[in-house]
Amino acid sequence: MEGTVDIFVIGGGVNGTAVARDAAGRGLRVTLAEMNDLASGTSSASSKLIHGGLRYLEHREFALVRKALKERSTLIGLMPHIAWPMHFVLPHHAGLRPRWMLRAGLLLYDNLAPLGGLARSRAIDLGTHPAGRLLKPEFTAGFEYSDGWVDDARLVALNARDAAARGAEVLTRTRVLEARRRSVHWEVDIEREGRVETRTAWRIVNAAGPWAGRLSPHLGKPYDLRLVRGSHIVVPRLDGHDQPYILQGHDGRIAFVIPYEQDFTLIGTTDIEQHGGPEEARCSPEEEAYLLDFVNEYLAHPIAAADIVWRYAGVRPLLASEAAAAAASRDYELALDAGGAPLLTVLGGKITTYRVLAEAVLAKLGIDGAWTAGVPLPGGDFDRGDKPGMVARLAADYRFLGPRWAERLITAYGTEARAILGRAKTAADLGRDFGATLTEAEVRFLVAHEFARDADDILWRRSKLGLRMSAEEVAALADWLAGAGV
Ligand SMILES: Cc1cc2nc3c(=O)[nH]c(=O)nc-3n(C[C@H](O)[C@H](O)[C@H](O)COP(=O)(O)OP(=O)(O)OC[C@H]3O[C@@H](n4cnc5c(N)ncnc54)[C@H](O)[C@@H]3O)c2cc1C
Repeated sequence: MEGTVDIFVIGGGVNGTAVARDAAGRGLRVTLAEMNDLASGTSSASSKLIHGGLRYLEHREFALVRKALKERSTLIGLMPHIAWPMHFVLPHHAGLRPRWMLRAGLLLYDNLAPLGGLARSRAIDLGTHPAGRLLKPEFTAGFEYSDGWVDDARLVALNARDAAARGAEVLTRTRVLEARRRSVHWEVDIEREGRVETRTAWRIVNAAGPWAGRLSPHLGKPYDLRLVRGSHIVVPRLDGHDQPYILQGHDGRIAFVIPYEQDFTLIGTTDIEQHGGPEEARCSPEEEAYLLDFVNEYLAHPIAAADIVWRYAGVRPLLASEAAAAAASRDYELALDAGGAPLLTVLGGKITTYRVLAEAVLAKLGIDGAWTAGVPLPGGDFDRGDKPGMVARLAADYRFLGPRWAERLITAYGTEARAILGRAKTAADLGRDFGATLTEAEVRFLVAHEFARDADDILWRRSKLGLRMSAEEVAALADWLAGAGV
């Protein structure tokens, strides 16, 4: 049937875009529909860790942790611009998990999968180690261990971009209303720009994340999902905050305190039942207070609500039937309904396992030819150790940038940074200056290549320049985007 695609993917989060990229790279015809912007759901609201999940060891989820740790090295190698290793500091004091338990857990964490060049864990003396300066003097002992970090929203944009480069049709601001199973294919009703159209597909992948349950009855196969919210707060960079921390709370939970976007500190997360739809998830004042109290137990200089410059919330879907086992069941499930044209529903998942999840989706649909383990994402075709040299060379070739701007561009775009700068000799050659080093040349690149449409797409997902821009600057960018016809 003319126009029928091999796979129709619903959802432009990390899982949907990865399935689209992987499938397009295997030569399949793919359409992806995202109802808002790419990564507008959970995939821009995570803690951004590529990790095995130290705390899952307590639940004896060794296979889960091993799989994620193996993938950690693969991912850091495939996207050295947007992902990198981090050396976490784990302070210890009596009354928390005992020291022997932490030491044993970290030893296991180091040995479950190859470290891939990441530093081994070790005990540290916080009285002399620079990481001790941020903490109250009573924290004298601790540990250091390695994990990975990734810019989650850019990860999604790069997957979508590569999917499109390999032939996938990526439709943003396109909502799937319902789909009807015909004898051997699907009819999918989508709504874009106020119009409803019907597309046809041989298979559907429902990767709508926490919306997957709500959508599922409209695809003829209902799933009951329980939603759990996690929130983060962002404050100006804490004095002396050079390394990430993992802190243990009296309630048995943990919180991360991570250096963020050059000048900020990211703190999270909470874990709370989400009543209402995923789109209503907001960081509540109670969650803010919880996170502040949590970290102030540790910080030498406490922080207050007035320090918070940004907050965000995301929602995890858990299968309702698994609610009791929620603490441990954070991996994914792929539900295949093959009574006719296949429908595969992705339930759960982590940023860390998005690539292997996409491979598993295609394997479950009977499609072979896995290829993504060895192919970098756009801009990631360089060695991690070269990054400082790339920043220095960019700053030398484009003298007007200076080191911080050059670092931001290499971190966001890797080897593609030069495609934005072209032959510019001065900042003025990059067109209009929107503030915070955002120029017309970069905005045009994001619109042309990364599906950005409005100011939020650019300031909160393709970048985090929203942290640095005034309300007037944001309004000027929005006006320009509305009028420029880009
Ligand atoms: C607080 C928190 C912290 C986390 N931290 C980490 C971490 O540190 N490391 C890690 O590995 N994982 C982490 N995770 C998990 C990770 O963020 C998620 O597993 C992942 O982002 C899920 O991606 P997804 O593509 O399945 O869903 P989403 O990113 O939510 O994407 C689903 C998309 O589907 C779209 N959609 C929904 N309905 C429709 C429709 N009808 N038509 C078209 N589009 C539709 C939505 O707009 C959305 O963009 C965290 C999760 C949370 C909540």
